[in-house]
Amino acid sequence: MDLGITGRRAIVCAASKGLGRGCAQALAAEGVEVWITARTASTLEETAAAIRSDTGARVTAVPGDITTPEGRAAVLAACPDPDILVNNAGGPPPGDFREWTLDDWNAALNANMLTAIELIRATVDGMMEREFGRVVNITSAAVKSPIDILGLSNGARAGLTGFVAGVARKTVRRNVTINGLLPGPFETDRLNSTFVARSNATGRPVEELKAEGAAANPAGRFGTAEEFGHACAFLCSAHAGFITGQNLLMDGGSFPGTL
Ligand code: NAP
Repeated sequence: MDLGITGRRAIVCAASKGLGRGCAQALAAEGVEVWITARTASTLEETAAAIRSDTGARVTAVPGDITTPEGRAAVLAACPDPDILVNNAGGPPPGDFREWTLDDWNAALNANMLTAIELIRATVDGMMEREFGRVVNITSAAVKSPIDILGLSNGARAGLTGFVAGVARKTVRRNVTINGLLPGPFETDRLNSTFVARSNATGRPVEELKAEGAAANPAGRFGTAEEFGHACAFLCSAHAGFITGQNLLMDGGSFPGTL
């Protein structure tokens, strides 16, 4: 299936590894020119080179912290008029809400809600003028099924989801869609680090805990960044112009509800 986005321009945030990288790779494979960001310049450059070599697409690495005004300004200077924006950033740490200070909350809201809103604000009017735009926000399955120890993530991502639910209905008339892509457990560095933390807490081997976690999923496994990227690329495709304000859960069927 030709996704109809060859020659489009995409900003993919937090994309040197994991889900962001999966999205950048899938878009590049469709002939999209991609600008990727991450804080660690060396890893980001390596990823850009790997995607270029796999896909032949033009890929520009823009190092920086996307949760800062400077980081956002850098990528917007490099690509001021994207057709596609994939919002992503590292997730907040787990913990007990009794120990979270206002600073912890402000950091989570900044990274997982306001950063995406700022990037939408900077790009959506241009997309509407050009009558094509696709915004995908990488959030979390926790938006549908909150996880108690991830309260900072539950709160910040629910805030972004609520904001998008309103604005996505104001942009779609000009062929600009905004959707959430909600990962359940995907095999990435972040997922591995949660198993390392659980292994340290319980004394059980990481591989045993991972095998147990994978077996507990209806799919019997974790998701891959590649399949996440392909779903993202479809939402960014020319064919997805009638899908907006939606939250697509990718969790192997873990969420037990009908809808
Ligand atoms: P990952 O494998 O750890 O990759 C994170 C990527 O984001 C790296 O490229 C990292 O590079 C970059 N990054 C982190 N903070 C950044 C910042 N402030 N500015 C720019 N780049 C930044 O993580 P992942 O599993 O792909 O997770 C991506 C998002 O999905 C996170 O918000 C996570 O909470 C959420 N999520 C993941 C899962 C899962 O199972 N994997 C499930 C639910 C939700 P640098 O460190 O060099 O900046």
